[in-house]
Amino acid sequence: MLIDLHTHSKYSFDAQDEIIDITKSAIEKGISYLAITDHKDYFWNKPEIELDIESIQRDIDNIRSQFSGKITILKGIELGEIYSKQDALELTNKYNFDMVIGSLHSMPNDIDFYDMDYTTLNSDKLLKDYLLEVKKMVEFGGFDVLAHIDYPLRKMEKANIKPSFENYMEFITPILKAVIDREMALEINAAGLFSFLKSVGPEGFVLDEYKRLGGSMISIGSDSHYAKDIGRGVKECIEHAKKHGFEYVSIFENRKHKQVFIGDDKK
Ligand SMILES: [Zn+2]
Ligand SMILES: [Zn+2]
Repeated sequence: MLIDLHTHSKYSFDAQDEIIDITKSAIEKGISYLAITDHKDYFWNKPEIELDIESIQRDIDNIRSQFSGKITILKGIELGEIYSKQDALELTNKYNFDMVIGSLHSMPNDIDFYDMDYTTLNSDKLLKDYLLEVKKMVEFGGFDVLAHIDYPLRKMEKANIKPSFENYMEFITPILKAVIDREMALEINAAGLFSFLKSVGPEGFVLDEYKRLGGSMISIGSDSHYAKDIGRGVKECIEHAKKHGFEYVSIFENRKHKQVFIGDDKK
């Protein structure tokens, strides 16, 4: 069973491929569940990212009827900084999403972690501040999946330092508890595998802690921004989940949770 619940199409500001091509790529790769989760970031100090949700959902309706029985396509969205503006929460009620994933791409009134210069800033302080903000965002709620909890680590490339959450568990445990309390899924994201980190995230000890606390809901996503990359790294994500004792992936349809078994598959 292959699943990719985090992908970007041309409707995202940083991607350009058609949903139809993403779907064909997913079918070729044997993916059973595909979620299209284009970006809408809310920020604090600047206008939100525009996203043409009507067109996305219309495209998905058309493609669903074209490929009926071959793949399940989920209507998703990746909401950045959902807790920064009230409108974000209203949006999730206005449209019929299957699943909403929540991300923190930037700190209040700052630039995206992706664009920061990690050679000059205090990454220890940044990580602690970041994790406190993630906790606030999860406690605010309004989404089904916490995306890439280790997002800043992907870009934190510094000579001789491999960024890790190893010394940050006192900040991470409260986030995991909040994820469990709100019945959200924790995402295993493949993007790190293709960064200098060379591994999917979050690190195994984060999954172990989540499991220890009673967490059972896991999501899987490539975070791909190209049709050709759909499903990239999801096998590794599934192996990572299984290695740390998870046998199911959480799927959301109409914002309702169900679990898909991954425990026995050799794929
Ligand atoms: Zn993201
Ligand atoms: Zn994404």
